[in-house]
Amino acid sequence: MSEGRSTHAPLGADPDESAVIDAFLGCGPRRSALGIGDDAAVLTYEAGAHVVTMDAMVEGTHWDHRLSAEDVGWKLVAVNVSDIAAMGARPRWCTLALTLPRPLDRAWVAAFATGVRAACARWEVELVGGDTTRGAVRVASMTMGGVALRPVLRDGAQVGDDLWVTGTLGRSAEAMLSGSPSQDALAWLRRPQPRLELAATLADAGHVHAMMDVSDGLRADLARLCARGQVGATVDANALPGAGPIAWRTSYGEDWELLFAAPPSAQNGIVAVGRMLHVPLHRIGVVQPAAQGVRLEGHARAPAWPDALFAHFPVEGA
Ligand code: ADP
Ligand code: MG
Repeated sequence: MSEGRSTHAPLGADPDESAVIDAFLGCGPRRSALGIGDDAAVLTYEAGAHVVTMDAMVEGTHWDHRLSAEDVGWKLVAVNVSDIAAMGARPRWCTLALTLPRPLDRAWVAAFATGVRAACARWEVELVGGDTTRGAVRVASMTMGGVALRPVLRDGAQVGDDLWVTGTLGRSAEAMLSGSPSQDALAWLRRPQPRLELAATLADAGHVHAMMDVSDGLRADLARLCARGQVGATVDANALPGAGPIAWRTSYGEDWELLFAAPPSAQNGIVAVGRMLHVPLHRIGVVQPAAQGVRLEGHARAPAWPDALFAHFPVEGA
């Protein structure tokens, strides 16, 4: 539709499928040699480390009435950008697999596409293709690719590193679990804003040893970072940014902030990047030998962590 394209629909095509595909033409800046419309996209990108991720959202599991169709479209792009950012990469392209029930709800598709389009424009990602299928519940899956000058993995944390988090923890927990969530919390649940510029700048500058995004809660994600790096850590509960119970900030997830380990010598550089990009940064703890375990000090049940508040596959009766 942008670039004066006519409708996708060829003679004999399923009009519903063609309408879906048409809704997604021209999302994000044109970067590919060939985007939507052929059997496959053609990408001719710069050399460098290519980073690929995928995230799926299932109606009823990953979203409910609290999210509009437009929010879901935004969020699907945002959560993929969050993973690309966590690698120290910048997103370039994405593909979209949509499963939709019959009869086709064209208004839902149009609103979802508006959200996808806005997010693709925000982070300069081109939607280059996808697939459309029929199914019992709505499922939206996105694959996203990006490039990194110097990819940052989870496994690089060194004993003596500082542990940092960006922004605010626990906003999605507040939105989902509080009886009267703030507008700020609801906005973050619906329209998360991953810290792409900060992550890419820190990575390019070589400031960080290990990095990941906080999607499953600090407790679970820090444990993963430590396991990959074969290190331990101590976190100060009083240094955790955000409001509400500690469990909201450690044990729910969907924070979409960055967690990273960096040497003390990088501190001034990191603080300068945070100031330049207006991203709040918090030093929450230190990396220690693996034998120390992963501890949360400075609260009533220390060094234990609050119990998980969310599980993808909860154990019956647990
Ligand atoms: P094929 O049958 O060859 O797999 P399709 O008819 O499924 O092709 O898709 C036609 C074009 O539309 C392809 O370029 C494909 O990538 C794109 N496409 C299909 N579904 C979507 C979608 N949900 N979002 C974005 N692009 C899509
Ligand atoms: Mg084909």
